[in-house]
Amino acid sequence: MKKKVFTLISATLLTLSISFTACSGTFTNGPDQAGDDLTAEGQEVATDSASFTCIANIAAEPLNDQEKDGILFMREEEKLARDVYFYLYDKTEIRAFGNIQKAEQRHMDAVLTLINRYDLQDPAEGKEPGEFTNADLQALYNKLINDGSASDIDALKVSALIEEKDILDLEKELDDHVDNKDITRVWTNLRKGSEAHLRAYVWNLKVRGVDYIPVLMDQEAFDRIIEKN
Ligand code: MN
Ligand code: MN
Repeated sequence: MKKKVFTLISATLLTLSISFTACSGTFTNGPDQAGDDLTAEGQEVATDSASFTCIANIAAEPLNDQEKDGILFMREEEKLARDVYFYLYDKTEIRAFGNIQKAEQRHMDAVLTLINRYDLQDPAEGKEPGEFTNADLQALYNKLINDGSASDIDALKVSALIEEKDILDLEKELDDHVDNKDITRVWTNLRKGSEAHLRAYVWNLKVRGVDYIPVLMDQEAFDRIIEKN
């Protein structure tokens, strides 16, 4: 009997610790990374604290067509970010690209959680880096790696542009398309991550003497994000 109770308690504790792990953020970067990208990395730490897959306790609801299209699109838009930063990290060795590329993999994973949850066909399945199902994203990827290859500054500028686009696309989903709570949770977390990435790229440009002017976003919305911390 005693043993049974013990087993029950252990099982309960195990379940608790699993759900705690799944639903809490972990800080993977420490303050030990000094250097000119320190602020960028600090902001990346903040990004890591968001737990994207903590939707297990939120009920799935019927999926409307716009929500479905949004999930499939965002899966590849996160891949675009990951693949461009991967490419530019190799080209420039700017540390922010290495860190943020890893965050984009986590963003992709978060969208995959939604794809699996709603039993959708993953557009990124079997795709190599730089390969996309969505033709617009394919064309954009090709253009951005080309433009970004010109110099370190250009690499950082195209990356800030990706984050602007990401934020605006997520905002559109949240404002106009989504009512399911699980999708809302994931998009909100992804947007938070994108804002941190935008700050990191803008900061990296600033230390190189460039004031980034937003391309897609209006100045006021941009300033609000940059001033947030
Ligand atoms: Mn992202
Ligand atoms: Mn990002």
